[in-house]
Amino acid sequence: MNSFNRRAFIKAAIAAAPASAFLTVPQTAHAGKKASVVVIGGGFGGATAAKYLKLMDPALDVTLVERQKTYTSCPLSNEVLSGHGKIEDLQVGYDGLKKRGINVIFDDATGIDAAKKTVKLNGGKTLKYDALVLSPGIDFNYGAIQGYSEQLANTTHPHAWKAGPQTLMLKKQLEGMKDGQTFVITVPPGPFRCPPGPYERASQVASYFKHHGMMKSKVLIADANDSFSKKGLFEQAWKMHYPGMIEWVAGAAGGKVVKFDAKSNTASSDFNDFKGDVVNIIPPHHAGAIAKNAGLTNEKGWCPVDMLTMESSIQKDIYVVGDACLHGDLPVYGAPKSAHSAATQAKVAVGAIIARLNGLPNPEPFFVNTCYSVAADDWGFSVVHIYRVKDGKLVYIAEAGGISPVNMADEAQLKLQRKLESEYVHGWFKNIMADAFA
Ligand SMILES: Cc1cc2nc3c(=O)[nH]c(=O)nc-3n(C[C@H](O)[C@H](O)[C@H](O)COP(=O)(O)OP(=O)(O)OC[C@H]3O[C@@H](n4cnc5c(N)ncnc54)[C@H](O)[C@@H]3O)c2cc1C
Repeated sequence: MNSFNRRAFIKAAIAAAPASAFLTVPQTAHAGKKASVVVIGGGFGGATAAKYLKLMDPALDVTLVERQKTYTSCPLSNEVLSGHGKIEDLQVGYDGLKKRGINVIFDDATGIDAAKKTVKLNGGKTLKYDALVLSPGIDFNYGAIQGYSEQLANTTHPHAWKAGPQTLMLKKQLEGMKDGQTFVITVPPGPFRCPPGPYERASQVASYFKHHGMMKSKVLIADANDSFSKKGLFEQAWKMHYPGMIEWVAGAAGGKVVKFDAKSNTASSDFNDFKGDVVNIIPPHHAGAIAKNAGLTNEKGWCPVDMLTMESSIQKDIYVVGDACLHGDLPVYGAPKSAHSAATQAKVAVGAIIARLNGLPNPEPFFVNTCYSVAADDWGFSVVHIYRVKDGKLVYIAEAGGISPVNMADEAQLKLQRKLESEYVHGWFKNIMADAFA
């Protein structure tokens, strides 16, 4: 193929490919020089970006910097708490990406120099980039809850909002509970990672109680917010499977926790005290520290990005994807912070980077979010949204998405649908893990 034809081919291929389905693999020369893309963070966003950069353009020099050798998925980690899943099944290494020719460095990225286009690593190395993908996930604003701290999170009061040792610690605490005791979950103000996550967690804890005959035990959700994702579906499940066992206190009813006393195990809002036998504080969060330290965040701690490319609105050639970014202005506070969002944002960033490196127009992106929740045995439901940018706004394509129905004419059909969805979640999980890491 001569260079003109190749250019025309790439242009057509990029423009035609939906963000989530790159089937063509163009090779580019970048004016004789091997272009370098550095990716910070090997979670759903970063791993997907690294893989698809190499798939789209094998000539690229792609380096992934990740601090941990094994990644533990948060999706399905609530099932680990209740004993319905095992943490080993949520873990993956980086050999799949290495085999694809991606240079994987296990280290902590400690600084970004946007002017020099370099990334500093804790081990002393400095990496140069033409484009940088940043997907560091979240870090926590412990100071927002007086009395709670990172030290408590790592020892006696795990938040377990990053899956791993804290998940197992919280599981052990649940297993140590006696019938009649209370498990308190505090929910921070949005936006937070995984909008339905706290309510799934409440469901899984109640499922544990039910399976262990602890019918006098309770889950109390102290929420800073006045509504939540898939509320009708969760409330229906709670009523059917755990009547009287789960209580939700909205922000307007004094659910916003601002204080914690570890000695008495009491979380407090300005109006109420929530005393538990196990208290699971989910602290407010913000973009991963590296993004904050590099000056890529707004006053609320998230990284604003160009909706069409995922490029930081603050620094050129840095693309922020996943939980760390503030993508669009969908309610509540932009696109949901989910693994599925992170993966499609990563693919959009890849398309934008390849287009820029090749002097091509940016392809028109589409974004997808899919979120399954399992609330009880054989009881799953989901929401799917497809987004596009229209008139400078991120908008839902109404005809393309959907949410599981709360009611169906026939109860047997409703049960079958919920059972099937509780099985589909495992297919979704296998696919997204393979798409990112294999
Ligand atoms: C309980 C729970 C359940 C969930 N369930 C679902 C679900 O069912 N479906 C769904 O779609 N989403 C779910 N999520 C949300 C999902 O986990 C996140 O949205 C997703 O992980 C975001 O991907 P990310 O790449 O932005 O961040 P992460 O997956 O957190 O990855 C960030 C990576 O960056 C690394 N890192 C950070 N800083 C540095 C640095 N300075 N140097 C080197 N490495 C660094 C970290 O070690 C980490 O591996 C759930 C979350 C929780 C807490």
